[in-house]
Amino acid sequence: MPQVNLVEIFSSVQGEGFQVGVPTLFVRFGECDLRCSWCDSPHTWKPARDCRFEEARGTGRFRTRPNPIEIAEALEAAAALDPSAHRYASLTGGEPLLQPDAVRALGEGLRSRGPLIHLETHGLAHEALARVVDVVDVVSMDWKLSSDVRRAGRSTRDAEESFHDEHAHFLDVARRAPEVVIKVVVTPNTRDSELDEMAQRICAVDPMLPVVLQPVTPMGSVTARPSSDVLLGWMERLSKSLGNLRLIPQTHPLLAIR
Ligand code: SF4
Repeated sequence: MPQVNLVEIFSSVQGEGFQVGVPTLFVRFGECDLRCSWCDSPHTWKPARDCRFEEARGTGRFRTRPNPIEIAEALEAAAALDPSAHRYASLTGGEPLLQPDAVRALGEGLRSRGPLIHLETHGLAHEALARVVDVVDVVSMDWKLSSDVRRAGRSTRDAEESFHDEHAHFLDVARRAPEVVIKVVVTPNTRDSELDEMAQRICAVDPMLPVVLQPVTPMGSVTARPSSDVLLGWMERLSKSLGNLRLIPQTHPLLAIR
């Protein structure tokens, strides 16, 4: 059994995307190879020194263990939170697909305890996804826009590369899972041309794929949301080609829940 670098395991409800509001057991992986300007989890960018496990469902009391964590120990910690009481176990991060062996082992182990496996990913690591897609029930992939996202180790000056080709490859693999949902975070920096390119790539696969337009929660270097006029304009623009588009903000900051 592989070991895994984890940040935390806890019980809550899904705070964003198509599964918003659904009871969810979160397994947050350490390390990410992107740097989104609006990232709400910058503490996950590097592998975590310690992992925290919620001790009992909904208590917010945690115990800490040093990384790496044995898969059996992670599954035991999840079992203490009653996995079958959750519709989903969300493997999130950080970027879980940087540790595909652990995604497979945790996906198999958690699925056998009841919840569906929800993989929350930046949507770029298609080779890693191909190794684990059979243990995933919902692939929740981001569509990253280079106006606000760069790779780790790159400066903002050379960040203007497009992620569209990699997302299209990833989507091809993700479609092997029972369900795929796509989320795009939009900010005042977002360009119409980026959204148009995204819509074109998604439509080439299936115009009815679920897509969430998520207005940024101001964070880090992003200090404002797009205006309501701009958001509604993007909804109108994208709805001409995308048949299953929704505008949904993050809800956990509003509710002050994890
Ligand atoms: S991919 Fe996710 S964890 Fe990584 S920087 Fe972006 S928002 Fe943060």
